[in-house]
Amino acid sequence: MLDMTPKDITQRSALRINPAKTCQPIGAMYASLGIHNCLPHSHGSQGCCSYHRSHLTRHYKEPIVASTSSFTEGAAVFGGGPNLRQSLKTIFQVYKPDVVAVHTTCLSETIGDDIPSIVRKAQEDGIVPNGKFVIHANTPSYVGSNVTGFSNMVKAMVDYFSSRDFGKSTDVNVIPGYVDPADMREMKRMLAELGLTATVFPDTSDVLDSPMSGSYEMFPKGGVTTEQLMKTGSASMTLALGAFASESAAMSLESKCGVPFTVMDLPIGIRSTDRFVKSLLDLTGQIKPVASMIEDRGRALDMMTDMQHYLYGKKVGLYGDPDQVIAMADFLISAGMRPVYVITGTPGKRFEDKVKTLLGNEACRCVVKSSADLFYLHQLIKSDPVDLIIGNTYGKYIARAEDIPFVRYGFPILDRVGHGFFPTFGYRGSIYLLTNIVNTLLDRIDRDSPEERFELVM
Ligand code: SF4
Repeated sequence: MLDMTPKDITQRSALRINPAKTCQPIGAMYASLGIHNCLPHSHGSQGCCSYHRSHLTRHYKEPIVASTSSFTEGAAVFGGGPNLRQSLKTIFQVYKPDVVAVHTTCLSETIGDDIPSIVRKAQEDGIVPNGKFVIHANTPSYVGSNVTGFSNMVKAMVDYFSSRDFGKSTDVNVIPGYVDPADMREMKRMLAELGLTATVFPDTSDVLDSPMSGSYEMFPKGGVTTEQLMKTGSASMTLALGAFASESAAMSLESKCGVPFTVMDLPIGIRSTDRFVKSLLDLTGQIKPVASMIEDRGRALDMMTDMQHYLYGKKVGLYGDPDQVIAMADFLISAGMRPVYVITGTPGKRFEDKVKTLLGNEACRCVVKSSADLFYLHQLIKSDPVDLIIGNTYGKYIARAEDIPFVRYGFPILDRVGHGFFPTFGYRGSIYLLTNIVNTLLDRIDRDSPEERFELVM
């Protein structure tokens, strides 16, 4: 399908072809699902909501619940206030969530609907029952990306809920970034292993990976509760994982409740997990991680060194959401591989600065770019091929056109299963990622080996 992509790169500034990102409300909807008993609400037309729900459903293989203001021509001309009021009335009467998390869309942003005023009026008129909450985030999709939308909704959790009223505690807040439920579950496991009491928010584990029980539950048991969110203001500190997805909420919590914060890379790969574990140890005053963690690390390291001859020097084209790409680039470098094209569709020069710092002397031999698209990545690969492509499902077309091995990583993965259940976080996540990378490379060797070189043991 992409055979006609030209090799020669011409300068483009306004046009995106085959974007390496998706729209803001998807991230906001995903973040909202990480609150217990929360219904995400899309303030816009039905088409936006359907697209966002189906995109998330296809990645998580779970039904995604969300409601919509169902804009028609009338709302586009006169504003969507009445639609939102009617929506809130119906939602609280029929579905009875604890929280409705409203995010906007391109249309409602262009109209200029003032969500806080509409919600305040609805509260005054008794449309929002006592003890129930309506929060909102502005998520115009003509700026930023799905990561910006996620970040805005997590910040809204802080702005609406966190409070100084609970005094001071030794608990820690962890904002895990725009990652899968398995990563959030692994994060909680690691925190518990080190004996830390922490609030992870948002938390989509047990929401988007809930087991089949035989009966449908609109609001599964997982998710951070409103009470936990209020108490985030009393925590001793916040660890914000992934600057693009988590920093703005952590900053807001500091200015609102005086909770200091540290921004770290996602703990993907051994080096990054080491840094994360070290900060947790500093918090607990422990010198060494628990034995099981040291063993997990050893296993990941063992696999990396055992498979070094397949990994070393392999050129990789890497793309996706910025926090994931930064962490994976670090991991690939530590495994002896060479990420030569590193791109994200999300804007932000700090992405380029960060990746170039990681690459060190190699930076001058690599293309690192934010606000880029997959058409550009394809052109780069056509000019100088790579040994492996790593990124979300959309890269499969480039992989097919150029006959390059492909590892699915990040969001969205629409054409495979399992990614929601296996963590990429921590030392265990490193083993999962290495398994995928090495096996993909070995499959290619098998496929391309002449009969006399076709080996049983590799
Ligand atoms: S880009 Fe805008 S109009 Fe399109 S689906 Fe996203 S929010 Fe809706």
